[in-house]
Amino acid sequence: MNKEELDKIKNQALLENIPIIMDDTLEVIEKRLKENLPQRILEIGTAVGYSAICFSEFLKENGRIDTIERDEERVKQAIENIKKAGVEEKIKIYQGDAVEILPTLNEKYDMVFIDAAKGKYPFFLKEALRMLNKDGIIFADNILYKGYVLSDYNKHKQRTAVRNLREYIKQVSENPNLDTEILEVGDGLAISKIK
Ligand code: SAH
Ligand code: MG
Repeated sequence: MNKEELDKIKNQALLENIPIIMDDTLEVIEKRLKENLPQRILEIGTAVGYSAICFSEFLKENGRIDTIERDEERVKQAIENIKKAGVEEKIKIYQGDAVEILPTLNEKYDMVFIDAAKGKYPFFLKEALRMLNKDGIIFADNILYKGYVLSDYNKHKQRTAVRNLREYIKQVSENPNLDTEILEVGDGLAISKIK
């Protein structure tokens, strides 16, 4: 898909207040993918398919993406966008709650992109680690959540999300099998690579 058409999807999503991946975050991820093209990607949080379409350019031959989205309307839009991009052979959408769908998956992935309910990040991490290949990489978007995660902000209605994002950072940092970087691009990006 050319840049112009991709920008159309992006701008339409932004217009509808759908929280798609930010340009600088995407740039960082794409740079990492270019160095080592993945065969299989798992994405948690499809929205309208924007990030999945972007990632599909960086797959190995015959590579595929599994992506999970619970919002029915967004799934419909994602299917349309993925068709427009001509990558429907590469992207499989699972419609439903990732908390229920992840335990039913039993594949191996080279990359996992976590970009859904912030309060569920520790659970998503557990599932990602279960299915990650031995040289795999996990990206977690929105890990700094508008700066709340690193501040002493506690009296916020989003405090469950903040607590779980902090827990995610703690777990990836303390895991002896992972090398983790937390980058302040976009809304914060955690990159964890198996050692
Ligand atoms: N990755 C997309 C943006 C995803 S936005 C992109 O960059 O283009 C986050 C999405 O996750 C939303 O569409 C929301 O509906 C979905 N989501 C949130 N919690 C979820 C859950 N538990 N299971 C499945 N989808 C979820
Ligand atoms: Mg995000």
